[in-house]
Amino acid sequence: MLVDLTMKQVVDMLKKVLVKAGYSEACAEILAGNCATAHRDGSESHGLFRVNDYLATIRSGYVNGDPKPTALDVAPGFLRVDADNGFAQVAIASAAEALMRKAKKNGIAVLAVRNSHHLGALYLDVERFAEQGFVALALVNSIAVVAPPSGKSPVYGTNPLAFAAPRAKGPPLVFDQASSTMAHGDVQVAARQGRLLPDNTGIDNKGNPTGSPHAILNGGALSTFGGHKGASIALMIEILCAGLVGADFSYEVSWAETPGARTARTGETIIVIDPRKGAEDGPSLGQRVEELIGALITAGQARIPGDRRIQSREALGNRIQVEKDLWQSLSSLAAA
Ligand code: NDP
Repeated sequence: MLVDLTMKQVVDMLKKVLVKAGYSEACAEILAGNCATAHRDGSESHGLFRVNDYLATIRSGYVNGDPKPTALDVAPGFLRVDADNGFAQVAIASAAEALMRKAKKNGIAVLAVRNSHHLGALYLDVERFAEQGFVALALVNSIAVVAPPSGKSPVYGTNPLAFAAPRAKGPPLVFDQASSTMAHGDVQVAARQGRLLPDNTGIDNKGNPTGSPHAILNGGALSTFGGHKGASIALMIEILCAGLVGADFSYEVSWAETPGARTARTGETIIVIDPRKGAEDGPSLGQRVEELIGALITAGQARIPGDRRIQSREALGNRIQVEKDLWQSLSSLAAA
């Protein structure tokens, strides 16, 4: 059963719960907005369902709930931010304006975030830049739960990549995908529901291909999507997020000494491009993206990436529907 609420009601409730657990008002505001937006947009694996992870990880002492990110302007097109062991979204919010100024001036700018955590849907980190007319690419690595092709143990995180480009008509084109066969949260959901996953979703603890969520979660690992091709994307993300910014590779992250930790302390890299520097004399990039999408639809593509999310957002607008049990548990956490 679903409860129909306003976004404000949900964000206020989440904020209350997060602040009680030890997050600062400013940090809770960003995380609450992020979770509620993902939930409203139909990205439920990174919506309100994640609140318990946000609570567990701060209670474990692994993450800083009141971070003060510091930005270093290291080159005309390069901004390096130390997230102060807080969530990457807080660091990005603090650096977004400076990043866009740099991209406008130089045509391209890189934001390299280190000492950061990420539990959210990545599209929210790029959509904001495309809404301002930029092309943006974001990459995050995490904790090792994904095996390389023919490997018997995990090395990669689920390592998502999100891309956004402006469209002439309507909201930006956005895609956001893990480089694993599926997000780890979805394997947990399947295990809870007693559902089998497609064959070859992952491997068991002996390295045999499996569709059993329990085998994947208990000593096994996820596989990369598209075999060696997805694996190379996961590899690139490790290099650009951890190697480049001075953060840990996913296989170096360990929670062994921090029971309860649920977020990986790693890095995030965002590349922002000003498309006006690419072709000042012809149609805008937004117009060209429209033409390309038109060609895809003419060719028969039934669903453009981001469609489901935009439809959910447009249908619900300022409202959000939350499972009754989840809302009740949030309300009791806020009242406790
Ligand atoms: P999905 O496989 O559900 O979707 C990936 C992308 O493909 C989306 O942009 C989606 O658009 C699009 N898409 C899905 N189906 C189709 C289709 N039939 N035709 C065309 N496009 C389609 O996502 P994942 O399971 O890979 O990832 C889920 C979420 O988990 C992401 O938001 C990701 O950022 C997040 N994540 C976060 C991590 C972290 O460390 N913070 C780690 C791993 C994942 P649409 O949005 O419209 O469905």
